[in-house]
Amino acid sequence: MAKSHTATRVGLFTESVIREMTRLNNLYHGVNLAQGFPDFDPPGELLDAAARALREGFNQYAITWGAPRLRQAIAEKFAWYNGLTVDPELHITVTCGATEAMMATLLAIIDPGDEVVIFEPFYENYGPDAALSGATPRYVTLHLDDPGLGFEAAELRNAFSAKTKAVIVNTPHNPTGKVFSREELELVADQCRRHDVIAVTDEVYEHLLYDGRQHVSLAALPGMAERTVTINSVSKTYSVTGWRVGWTICTNPDITNGIRRVHDFLTVGAAAPLQEAAVTALHLKRQYYADLATMYQRKRDRMLDILRQTGFRPIVPSGAYYIISDISEFGQDDVAFTQFLVKELGVATVPGSSFFHHPQPGRRYIRFAYPKQEPTLDEVARRLARLPRAVEQLKR
Ligand code: GLN
Repeated sequence: MAKSHTATRVGLFTESVIREMTRLNNLYHGVNLAQGFPDFDPPGELLDAAARALREGFNQYAITWGAPRLRQAIAEKFAWYNGLTVDPELHITVTCGATEAMMATLLAIIDPGDEVVIFEPFYENYGPDAALSGATPRYVTLHLDDPGLGFEAAELRNAFSAKTKAVIVNTPHNPTGKVFSREELELVADQCRRHDVIAVTDEVYEHLLYDGRQHVSLAALPGMAERTVTINSVSKTYSVTGWRVGWTICTNPDITNGIRRVHDFLTVGAAAPLQEAAVTALHLKRQYYADLATMYQRKRDRMLDILRQTGFRPIVPSGAYYIISDISEFGQDDVAFTQFLVKELGVATVPGSSFFHHPQPGRRYIRFAYPKQEPTLDEVARRLARLPRAVEQLKR
């Protein structure tokens, strides 16, 4: 038998659908509403801070766990925004984005065969993260036909067992925009305490909240600090997705030490000058966050208008910067329809099935990312205005 040159683990998942759509978008000169990144610059003071850091000598390795000033700034912000006091020396690890943070965390806590509870639909990374760490995922459905995008408490209870090692909670949620309520998080916390399970939270959209919604960190619920790894990054909050600066926070020393061990040998550390610049980001005035949420709520409303006017039935997000929309009236499945949109109209989106472990429940949906400037959204409106006509021709 021919020898395989690749490991079994890389056969367990496929390439990122989100980035594949970005490639297709570039091929067809489309507007990229597939990959979630802003098409505008971060605040000017962050650019200045990054340039200054390069000139002022931050060009060699930072401390592996993260530049001390950055960890200090993360701890201060975590205290005022998330309500928890942590020790930057012992509890914080700076990583190459939340992506590395999630991978390093799962590699640090999962043994092959351990079960991890994941809410579905889920951000596409969690599938490969589970596969690479050897976890067996157990899914809990978020109901897309329910305006609150709720889940059944009984289904959550049934997903937890003696085999459960961790639960991943992403709030505000990609791709649905759900913001988990305190009551919902209490249900999760209750299961974690009952079954001695670690919660891993992805809170990268914590400031993108609409209609008066509040962000609640699972780590701040009673008895949860020691059993929660809180993951965050500068990417979304400060519009710097390419900087790749993220972090984990966990007050349980065994878990933090495990994460640090994996992180050390995986990447050594995130870019030193950008860690320095991230300090400036975390020190921005609190008004910055309120303005950010206001700006994004306006973009959300604009995007919802565009979609409704062109025949979509979007789900209204309460947070993050994505809109999931039903596409059943267009008569095509998600993959065919996203291909059609990018090739015929020049608008790239993500097929809903990439957020589900079995494609079928996602076939009726596609995801739009809207962190875009007004002129970009104007262009999207112009391009999507041709949709009803184009669909009619397609059906003929
Ligand atoms: N988090 C962003 C998204 O969901 C970017 C992800 C990616 O590049 N895979 O679109």
